[in-house]
Amino acid sequence: MGAVWHPECFRCHACNQPISDYEFSMSGNYPYHKSCYKEHYHPKCDVCKQFIPTNMNGLIEYRAHPFWLQKYCPTHEMDGTPRCCSCERMEPRDIQYVTLDDGRKLCLECLDSAIMDTSECQTLYLDIQEFYEGLNMKVEQQIPLLLVERQALNEAMEGEKNGHHHLPETRGLCLSEEQTVSTILKRPKFGAGNRVMEMVTEPCRLTRRCEVTAILILYGLPRLLTGSILAHEMMHAWLRLKGYRTLSQEVEEGICQVLAHMWLDSEIMSGSGSNIASTSSSSLASTSSKKGSRSQFERKLGDFFKHQIESDTSSAYGDGFRAGNRAVLQYGLKPTLDHIWLTRSFPC
Ligand SMILES: [Zn+2]
Ligand SMILES: [Zn+2]
Ligand SMILES: [Zn+2]
Repeated sequence: MGAVWHPECFRCHACNQPISDYEFSMSGNYPYHKSCYKEHYHPKCDVCKQFIPTNMNGLIEYRAHPFWLQKYCPTHEMDGTPRCCSCERMEPRDIQYVTLDDGRKLCLECLDSAIMDTSECQTLYLDIQEFYEGLNMKVEQQIPLLLVERQALNEAMEGEKNGHHHLPETRGLCLSEEQTVSTILKRPKFGAGNRVMEMVTEPCRLTRRCEVTAILILYGLPRLLTGSILAHEMMHAWLRLKGYRTLSQEVEEGICQVLAHMWLDSEIMSGSGSNIASTSSSSLASTSSKKGSRSQFERKLGDFFKHQIESDTSSAYGDGFRAGNRAVLQYGLKPTLDHIWLTRSFPC
């Protein structure tokens, strides 16, 4: 024990100041001031920005979003902290989300690319139509596309004789009945407290010229989410117009989710600027996305929407997607659709 002890050499690994306190913390082989250690290693809540408190057993217990890894005190799940209706992230105390007129909350990053009125949605509709053409699945009929509020969507859903509803919330609908639907005419403005005001809607009478009267999509969602919902509903329309009947929910919703997922893939690829090999996806990628390069957040958001489709726990949408996706990866889209036509089931 011939070592000489220099108090001034015993320094905190974080702030590099000498440690003179009786108690200190160790991490790896390094000493820290207790306060510095806490600052570095004790997790802070992404919502209230405080250190996440220890529970009754002295352990730090927090929740984290599985995709965004946003971590927060468990109490925020009960204290009314809002979540973004699109990306699911909780509203941090220092940022105010916008409130849509139906009570949905939207974070500012999702708001950035949100589709707010029926005319804004038409450009996207053209992209989706080209996407279907690129797959040799052109929908010949002119199907009206309307952007609607939640209430109008729910009312239209009740007016349908049969149809599947994506719980907990339906965000799109492929209509077969003749109905009058209230559609959003003009992008709403945001007033005090970031609340929607001056919403302009107009009743739209839909008449039936073919098996599908219209496609309705919930307003206020980011372009990539709106597009994936639209790609899903377009597939319902395609199936109906091509005469695919009495499919099980799992097969029908599953194949619709496969198309939504494929569209997201093509958008993420086309926005990344990387050169795309001459696979079947190249024709898709080149047709979509005329909006220029994606923001980094938008690409991450695209990955999130894909993750949501892949990890959906419901049997119709989740299991259906996974079975459909396996089939399409193994046999291709066209043979899978032919197989569904003949057997009403996915090839396995
Ligand atoms: Zn907190
Ligand atoms: Zn969001
Ligand atoms: Zn569906």
